[in-house]
Amino acid sequence: MRNDSSAANAKRSLREIPKVELHCHLDGALRPATILELGRAQGVRLPADRLPELIRHVQVTKPCTLTECLKVFDLVLPLLQDADSLARAAYELVEDSAQDNIRHLEVRFAPALHGSRGLSTDDAVAAVLRGLARGHARFGVSTGVIVCLLRGLPESRNAAAFESLRRAYGSGVVGLDLAGDESRFPIDAYAKFFERARELGIPATCHAGESRVQEIRAALDLGVARLGHATRLCDDASLLGEVARRGVAIEVNLTSNVRTGSVPSIESHPARTWFEAGIPLSLNTDDRGLFGIDLTHEYDQALLAGFTREELERLANGAMRQAFLPRGAEARA
Ligand SMILES: [Zn+2]
Repeated sequence: MRNDSSAANAKRSLREIPKVELHCHLDGALRPATILELGRAQGVRLPADRLPELIRHVQVTKPCTLTECLKVFDLVLPLLQDADSLARAAYELVEDSAQDNIRHLEVRFAPALHGSRGLSTDDAVAAVLRGLARGHARFGVSTGVIVCLLRGLPESRNAAAFESLRRAYGSGVVGLDLAGDESRFPIDAYAKFFERARELGIPATCHAGESRVQEIRAALDLGVARLGHATRLCDDASLLGEVARRGVAIEVNLTSNVRTGSVPSIESHPARTWFEAGIPLSLNTDDRGLFGIDLTHEYDQALLAGFTREELERLANGAMRQAFLPRGAEARA
């Protein structure tokens, strides 16, 4: 047990570690205060009109079901349907990242989910890039955008998002991701996007193995450089060995995995096992707004998952090598 002041000191020292965040969703990062302001400005009815009550509706602080988490996105997404709101969300995320001493941030979002008022996927990407550029100029955090395709979305909408990724790749957009419910929509149906990305030299990550270990195998076969979550990897020792051998990195999301019930507790999270197997790891928030956390909190949680402070510094350092930096940008990092 740590007493209050030693806990505060430990937190401060973790905050000082220069960090990289590679798995962070733009919509899941929105501040509750911004949700309130955007709701008021856009005339969108929210479940509460004062911040303390609203926080209870937009933050998941205990283990919850997927449906409960998705309910929050149903609330947040309608507020991010115009360029200015997207740019604001991106800017504020850079500001919040700077508070964590994050030096490089990869933010991901699904451009196909922001068109209900006519915004094209190209314009959605451009708006996010605009907010990130403003954030970079102000706070000095370097950034990249990962375009998410979504499991279960009509093919044409994923295809439009992929085309926006292709067009903006190298101009602030750095990679491809696939998100959504893997138990209902296996990755095979989206293989062609990963194959096309590979042909174009665009690196890919994939949400895989939160509920089905088979998705990890399939994602590896499609040539992903990183895996998001991958909590079921420990179900298959030979696959774990293969991930390590190939040097495929895992984007670890400790709090998210416990809150969504993907692992029973931080202490039993498999990240430490992966680390000992030599798998490159990064620590990430996944949805910092939704879970009411920051990246420093995740470093603190990693101590409970069995890491030492020195190991966390090594992890933070190593995560930079896992970033999807556009070609030629390595020297700037
Ligand atoms: Zn995620």
